[in-house]
Amino acid sequence: MKRLASPQDGVGLSAAEVAANFSDLHPPLSAGQAVIEASRCLYCYDAPCIRACPTAIDIPTFIHQIRSGNLGGSGQTILSANILGGTCARACPTEVLCEGACVVNHTEGAPVKIGLLQRRAVDAAMVQAQQSGTHPFGRAKPSGRKFAVIGSGPAGLAFAHRAAMLGHDVTIFERSPKGGGLNEYGLAAYKMADDFAQRELAFLLSIGGIEIQYRAALGESLTLDDLRREFAGVFMGVGLGAAQRLDVPGADLPQVRDALGFIADLRAAADKSTMGSKRRVVVIGGGNTAIDAAMQAKALGAKEVVLLYRRGPAHMGATAWEQELAAANGVLLRCWARPLRIAAALEGQDGVEVTCAETRLEAGKLVDGGAAFTLGADLVLVAIGQGLRGAGLSALRMDGPKIWVDEAGRTSLDKVYAGGDCVARGQDLTVQAVADGMRAAIAADQDVRGAA
Ligand SMILES: Cc1cc2nc3c(=O)[nH]c(=O)nc-3n(C[C@H](O)[C@H](O)[C@H](O)COP(=O)(O)OP(=O)(O)OC[C@H]3O[C@@H](n4cnc5c(N)ncnc54)[C@H](O)[C@@H]3O)c2cc1C
Ligand code: SF4
Repeated sequence: MKRLASPQDGVGLSAAEVAANFSDLHPPLSAGQAVIEASRCLYCYDAPCIRACPTAIDIPTFIHQIRSGNLGGSGQTILSANILGGTCARACPTEVLCEGACVVNHTEGAPVKIGLLQRRAVDAAMVQAQQSGTHPFGRAKPSGRKFAVIGSGPAGLAFAHRAAMLGHDVTIFERSPKGGGLNEYGLAAYKMADDFAQRELAFLLSIGGIEIQYRAALGESLTLDDLRREFAGVFMGVGLGAAQRLDVPGADLPQVRDALGFIADLRAAADKSTMGSKRRVVVIGGGNTAIDAAMQAKALGAKEVVLLYRRGPAHMGATAWEQELAAANGVLLRCWARPLRIAAALEGQDGVEVTCAETRLEAGKLVDGGAAFTLGADLVLVAIGQGLRGAGLSALRMDGPKIWVDEAGRTSLDKVYAGGDCVARGQDLTVQAVADGMRAAIAADQDVRGAA
């Protein structure tokens, strides 16, 4: 488990220590280590690890290929099921997916390191593609049809790649100046070291037939009606871009900011030490974003990081392993508490004071109870969830706060598909977004060919 360098009293971290804190969370396996690890796999019939993977990667086959020295074939096996297998190898919560289901947990007490083996195979396939100037997948005969994709996150990219493989051309419209969605702006920097999101994007696009138009947003310069007229189909992979605001007095103080913006700034900083460190940080929330913000505030050199969550550890969106990683690195998890107000600290003192109430469940409802307490902070990061930005989506049927889709990713509008975090199916994970994008591309291909 990664251990972050922590500041001594009164001394910040050096730039080198900050850089080391942001280095790879799980360093890659060497060739020898990979073969030894691969030999732990039992090549199960009806393997539970495959069933636990939303993209159903044929895990025993790719592990067998690593063991027999066929690294190229192994990469091909993974990428044919999940073209973003490189990011998933780095960012998937494998402890609750493939590795959580691995039968070796029961025989040896620890699973086969499927994530690290996957990374070994995909990294090798990407190097090989770069060196040879070729892409591992060809394209079918040109269909003469063109699809529009809104958003270049994992869902949009997976749709675009599969549609390109099926012979269609694709134009991706992306609001941001860079592609990759949360792979580029959201995943923790130590999960995506060495500019991996951009390297993977370049690899994916090398199949050909996919164009990206940056700074082009649905609901601003583009409308769904125009896109439906111009393209054979439209895929919505817009994610959840709107951070939810904390609704307590003092939430607009300059020391309070949304955690997603903090993480995005960190990802964009080539030298993380230039971000500066705050001494005391309070993070509000209990999901991936909250844990990542807390860990990264620590990695920058914060002396004290408290994660405030209104329910218990078992209710957190962050997995037990992520909670353990944060706790092992000095993040104080303060569950069953919520902020009541934030106020500037008394004169002569820095920062703000966050007044909190202890909480408990009463007949299934969360209520305040116990004593109020105060936390001092130089920075408060708010990570209480993200919502869909509605602009341009009003014609679509919704399911609660998200877009309604059928099993195949079709929305309520003809020729419009959706997937990833913006839809009301599955979990908000990179691998789920990839699965959604690929499934929708197959449905869209069937629809246009059926209509021919
Ligand atoms: C901080 C954080 C950490 C996370 N960590 C993990 C992790 O470790 N492991 C994991 O599996 N998952 C993690 N997740 C979840 C994962 O990142 C998402 O599930 C995944 O990125 C969803 O992919 P997507 O393509 O649906 O959306 P996104 O990745 O959000 O991409 C959406 C894209 O659409 C663009 N867009 C939005 N609206 C428009 C518009 N109107 N016009 C044009 N473009 C638009 C956006 O700019 C963006 O590029 C994390 C999420 C967050 C927020
Ligand atoms: S469950 Fe574990 S042992 Fe079985 S095939 Fe999957 S990785 Fe191998």
